[in-house]
Amino acid sequence: MSFVIRCVDCGHEVLYHPLSNNCPKCNSQWREAVYDLQEAAVALARELPKRRFDLWRYREVLPIKKPIPELRMGEGGTPLIRAVNMGMMLGNSNIYIKDERQGPTASFKDRQASLTINALKEAGITEMVAASTGNVAIANSAYAARAGIKLWAFVTSLVPAVKMREIALYGSQVIKVTGSYDQVKQIAAEFAEQRGLYHDTGARAVTSVEGMKTIAYEIAEQMTDELGPPPEAGEAQPGKLRWRTPDWYIQAISGGLGVIGVAKGFREMKQMGITDRIPGMICIQADGCAPMVHAWKENLEEAAPVNNPKTHIETLATGTPGRSYKILRKQMQDYKGLFESVTDEEAFRAMHVLAKMEGVSAEPAAAAAFAGLFKLIRAGVIKPSDSVVVNCTGHTMPAEPLVLGSGWARNVILPQEETAAQEEEGLLAALSRVAPDRFPRVAIVDDTADARRLVRRILQSQGEFTIFEASNGKEGLELVQREHPDLLILDLMMPGMDGFAVLDALRSNPDTAQIPVIVSTAKELTLEEKNRLQGQIQVLMQKGDFMSDEFLEEVKALIR
Ligand SMILES: [Zn+2]
Repeated sequence: MSFVIRCVDCGHEVLYHPLSNNCPKCNSQWREAVYDLQEAAVALARELPKRRFDLWRYREVLPIKKPIPELRMGEGGTPLIRAVNMGMMLGNSNIYIKDERQGPTASFKDRQASLTINALKEAGITEMVAASTGNVAIANSAYAARAGIKLWAFVTSLVPAVKMREIALYGSQVIKVTGSYDQVKQIAAEFAEQRGLYHDTGARAVTSVEGMKTIAYEIAEQMTDELGPPPEAGEAQPGKLRWRTPDWYIQAISGGLGVIGVAKGFREMKQMGITDRIPGMICIQADGCAPMVHAWKENLEEAAPVNNPKTHIETLATGTPGRSYKILRKQMQDYKGLFESVTDEEAFRAMHVLAKMEGVSAEPAAAAAFAGLFKLIRAGVIKPSDSVVVNCTGHTMPAEPLVLGSGWARNVILPQEETAAQEEEGLLAALSRVAPDRFPRVAIVDDTADARRLVRRILQSQGEFTIFEASNGKEGLELVQREHPDLLILDLMMPGMDGFAVLDALRSNPDTAQIPVIVSTAKELTLEEKNRLQGQIQVLMQKGDFMSDEFLEEVKALIR
């Protein structure tokens, strides 16, 4: 397959060479790879069934002559996971996690690194420079090691030491710069210029943008595998691909490269006739460094730099977005999409929710994207029936203490040098201190198994409770009379004896009249129904519209 590099500003076309950063005609650094998309669409339809699920399966639309087999480490091809529990909590059953943690170095930067290093190796280049807040340098270092390429990694001194050591472990030269990330990028660029080395220029680097693009192709293919072709596709035609796209794609951004690449992928697929539409792109920034969000909300053409970023999420700390903002803004104006920001605190809270509810531990930057999701669902921007894919990358390690607070582990100190019997007794005593015999008792009465599971999960994820469940009103009433729980969580709409009847029975019996009740309901209540509950219950919660920690706070307050 063939491709050319076209200048975004003057349209001049040249063949690709990694060391040529500027348009020979107008000197612009903003250029993109252009393919014969009709030819590519035919080839993809024919070849995809034979190829394994990694990013090289889309090679007809990648800027390399040939994938080099020795460099491969399973880049791309990451799972698309349905967020079932979080979806129930938020009242949206179409939330998907694109799990970029499962790349060779655990971040979506593996895509750009594998493509870049492949291109450098093809061109016979043996040395390169990258400025990074950690993940880019780690990914490039891993692939550079396989390719025998020397990497100079410029990082800010704020990058966690554990990440710096990982870069060094791969044999790269770490250069720690005390200064902002924007300054680090500048110094790295000057160093590369002086020595005539390849320099990863982020959103201006063709291989980086094209690597990110593969996320879009995978999402469309995976959504089609899961849900079938789009409803409007009609009869399947032989030799033609028909893929589905989500309504929204959400990613946290620093420089904006990731979303620029993903958006290009969706545009190409639509041009090829593989998909019918382009998802709304949502870019999330940290409140303390959100130049693009400010410019977007004020409808400005250019984003003013943030000179002194104030966020603990160092991977989101690009203060000067430059032209990336214009490119993203145009994407959102031509199609759909928006910029939004979240606080560091909201991001850390989302990280905890994601881990507790879905078993997914993301890094703070990715958690910011989930915090953005929560915010936009609650604001009604993302509708309950909309499908959403959230890019999830990275490792939690540097942020865990902030997320968990204190008291997340308990110590067991075992007695030493005792007889076997004493030792046994000591062990039991030690364990009973770790976990007391009696926990607060909570009854859940709900006819939907999924709803009971969600409440149980939320309770168990951050507290100790003895939990009883019943799946209808009659059994629920018997359960409460038998077990005398400290709290009842009650559904209203149940076949047979409904929640109102259960409440009436409980309140008319002095034995159970004082048990606090949280009603969780999927139904909009009428005024009459609300009046019926008045004075009978402590808390009313709308199903699909509460966060796990808000719910826990209510529970803890009532039990105390
Ligand atoms: Zn040009």
